[in-house]
Amino acid sequence: MPQIIVLGAGMVGTGTALALQARGHDVTLVDRRGPGEETSYGNAGFIQAEAAEPYAMPRDLRTLAAYALGQSNDLVYDLAALPKMAPVLWRYFRNSAPAAHRRASAQYAQLVARATGDHAPLIAASGQDNLIRRTGYHQAYRDPRAFAAAAREAERLAAEYGVPSQALDSAALARAEPALKTPLPGAIFWESCWTTPDPGGLTAAYARLFAAQGGRVCRGDAMSLAPSGSGWTVATEEGPVAAAHAVVALGPWAPDLMARFGYRVSMLWKRGYHGHFDSPAALSRPLIDDANGVVLTPALRGLRIATGAALVARDAPADPVQLRRGAAAAGELLEIGPRVAEPQWFGHRPCLPDMLPLVGAAPRHPGLWLNFGHGHQGFTLGPTTGILLADALEGQSDPLLSALSPAARPGVLR
Ligand SMILES: Cc1cc2nc3c(=O)[nH]c(=O)nc-3n(C[C@H](O)[C@H](O)[C@H](O)COP(=O)(O)OP(=O)(O)OC[C@H]3O[C@@H](n4cnc5c(N)ncnc54)[C@H](O)[C@@H]3O)c2cc1C
Repeated sequence: MPQIIVLGAGMVGTGTALALQARGHDVTLVDRRGPGEETSYGNAGFIQAEAAEPYAMPRDLRTLAAYALGQSNDLVYDLAALPKMAPVLWRYFRNSAPAAHRRASAQYAQLVARATGDHAPLIAASGQDNLIRRTGYHQAYRDPRAFAAAAREAERLAAEYGVPSQALDSAALARAEPALKTPLPGAIFWESCWTTPDPGGLTAAYARLFAAQGGRVCRGDAMSLAPSGSGWTVATEEGPVAAAHAVVALGPWAPDLMARFGYRVSMLWKRGYHGHFDSPAALSRPLIDDANGVVLTPALRGLRIATGAALVARDAPADPVQLRRGAAAAGELLEIGPRVAEPQWFGHRPCLPDMLPLVGAAPRHPGLWLNFGHGHQGFTLGPTTGILLADALEGQSDPLLSALSPAARPGVLR
């Protein structure tokens, strides 16, 4: 069996390494940090079986005006950073039109439908069942009209994709979450989502499973990847590693390495922040405050409040204005308690403008494989696209793989 290097040990790279290992390949997983210490650490920890459709950019004038005027906490932006993002934003906007979004959703729904089933054996084999809550979450609304619209949308998702949910009215929500301080118009209870209080810990546990099964985990710089003979080498702390194939699973940093080989990746980085709070309130399950674009989820270090998207330069310094506003809003709903002292975390959702992850062979470099661009749901989809990447590397093809492949998406990778 050929040797394979997987670059990046987030949920996507780790899921890929495990899938390739399960087929009998000799795999080395390389990261400059420990497994699961970047985006896969700081996210909200949702394994989103309910997210049948990818996150489209709103196109209605009211929402766009609210964004432009800075009236929405869902999305904030740095005006100075927008010109550089304009081409990818424009493509994302066009792909968010109903017909294009429906086409993307037809692929996306197939991926998401597999997600919990693909995590399940890894959760069991890595002994992490205690880290998984199979309780779903509440998406709560402050405005009765927004709640009514969400209930209609939930019915549509049930009809089109079989996504289960319940619309809870004000009284039912208050019964389900007695810790809420104020009555709210209602919530959608998304039943099929699994969540974890420690997404980084789950990723690291998957990497330990990979190592226990004979895989090698090394620290090294992916930017040292170079062609060598008929394959690839990468420099690691344990010396150079050579292999017939290399898989780029670097999440938000994938475009940097791809640029070294002459590829331009059209990626939109949607920054998000989190903070932990020493909350005395006990939620029965995670809760999204829809009006303020924040997720409240019980996590290992306290109540984790995670934010929506900030469109800023990838290397811009931290400015957690969304987190501050989101936490203030969350405090109206729940006793959130004091902020836990910790360095300010932020990470970037690696979004591609057609909203699908890129999975398959690099067009101009034999033996170079790509698995990145999972946007809002990479923690959910890592094991699933890992299996698909293993299929592609072994020469299998099917319509889903073809739709995700770089060859089918010249607007994403050039
Ligand atoms: C606030 C927030 C909340 C989110 N909530 C959810 C959620 O609830 N559910 C969900 O499914 N998704 C969620 N996401 C999205 C999800 O976190 C990402 O899609 C996912 O983590 C991407 O995984 P990845 O493995 O591609 O990237 P990462 O986890 O970032 O992994 C990439 C790895 O590459 C390594 N690397 C980078 N450069 C180099 C280099 N030069 N050399 C070596 N290694 C390198 C990094 O160290 C890192 O470990 C959220 C994102 C944010 C920001």
